[in-house]
Amino acid sequence: MKDYKQFVPLLGAKVDPVAYGVYPLSVNRIGDGAVFMAEDGGETIIVAVGKDWDFTGVEFEVNGQPCIAAPLTHANAKQLRKLFPFTAPVRVLGKDRTVGVGDRLGIAGAGHIRVFQKYDAFPVLAQQSIRELNLTGRTYEDVLDAATFVVYREGFRKGFGADGDHLKKPEEVAMALRLGFSMITLDCSEHMHNEFASMPLAELHEKYVADPVLEAKYLGKTFEVGEGVTVSFDEESFKRMVMVYAEVIDFATSIYRKFFSDGTYDADFEISIDETITPTTPLEHFFVANELTARGVKFETLAPRFCGEFQKGVDYIGDIVQFEKELAVHAVIARHFGYKISLHSGSDKFSVFGIFGRLTKGRFHVKTAGTNWLEAMKLVAMVDPDLYREIHAFALSKFTEVTKYYKVSTDITRIPNLSTLDDKALVKLFCHNDARQLIHITYGPILSEKDAKGNYLFKDRVYDLWKLHANQYSDLLFSHIGRHLEELYKQMRR
Ligand code: ZN
Repeated sequence: MKDYKQFVPLLGAKVDPVAYGVYPLSVNRIGDGAVFMAEDGGETIIVAVGKDWDFTGVEFEVNGQPCIAAPLTHANAKQLRKLFPFTAPVRVLGKDRTVGVGDRLGIAGAGHIRVFQKYDAFPVLAQQSIRELNLTGRTYEDVLDAATFVVYREGFRKGFGADGDHLKKPEEVAMALRLGFSMITLDCSEHMHNEFASMPLAELHEKYVADPVLEAKYLGKTFEVGEGVTVSFDEESFKRMVMVYAEVIDFATSIYRKFFSDGTYDADFEISIDETITPTTPLEHFFVANELTARGVKFETLAPRFCGEFQKGVDYIGDIVQFEKELAVHAVIARHFGYKISLHSGSDKFSVFGIFGRLTKGRFHVKTAGTNWLEAMKLVAMVDPDLYREIHAFALSKFTEVTKYYKVSTDITRIPNLSTLDDKALVKLFCHNDARQLIHITYGPILSEKDAKGNYLFKDRVYDLWKLHANQYSDLLFSHIGRHLEELYKQMRR
């Protein structure tokens, strides 16, 4: 057992807590007692002084006061959330500006929090899809607990969200909600029948299943959406749209009725129709929103598929003028119904952020994830060039295998050969789109590959490095995610 007594004298308030390894913003005094976090031999622990805190850990006594040194376990995270409600996720999507910052590694929170102390946007600190959980070997408990611990440690009381991202099945939604996630992003892609979007007209007419109610409501009709925008439905586009989206609407409605309508869970609902190849037309957007609304489905955000490409970890690829034109209409539709547009794969989309902030009139949700991982790998290149070279070579060897899962235009032949780069030049690879995407899409194998003896090839080494250089990682994120916010806010008041 370590000597935890060293932490307690700070309660006399005459000593500098930092000198004792205590996180100063984590100190919460209640009555005679106190709870705080401290570094103890490279591990962060919770120290509780006084009675009845109900943490699980090593008990000891200082001057007759009962104390406990509690490790950062799931049980202790639950207890923190109970004692200090600001460490539990809350619904934030109703705020004007919200940004999801998926912390795949569970180490980015400190840097993220600094960004959201500077801007008025609210963070969704915990945000992972099931695929990300599988690739990182984490659970939703881990993801949420990591957010709780860092929020407590940094004394971040503004409130944050937790997003069960891109969930596709009722049981996934149930799991996230039961754990206290404050937001569900429902991925409707498996219910979207895209084959009807491009089907020859004769075949479409043949396969179309008539719905007299919808026909009476939409066919040949024009809807005033406001702000000069109207949508009208001709026969062909109507039939295609109904066939593509009817099941999406049924699915989202069933999930809403099962989990949201009775108010059992206090969570925000996001409808995601972005995981598809064809951009969402204004007509389709209006139709989906109008039908969901008619069925009483309430949702805070909707993610359409925008024109152009939102590839992982690189800037927008496509016609920005067209993006702006189409977004303007999507934004009006969202305002008409009263929800916010959600922009997915928002990492590094610097050339469209300004437009997004302006056309949504400063009411938006943006999700980033991969860019936080890239900053972590950039840190590896900066402080341990040899390790980075090893990982880079491994990533190249896994490239073909992982491209199955991603739509990227990465050409690895354009990445400079690392033997031609000196150590200082390695960091410049993170300005190189192909190198960024290579590292971006191989995060699963990098974190999970094991050697013949069953030891992780890289995972333990990179986590040790990130821990040792935690402040530098926080600085990188503060600057890089900060730049995202800076651009999003830039044109807002025009
Ligand atoms: Zn998405």
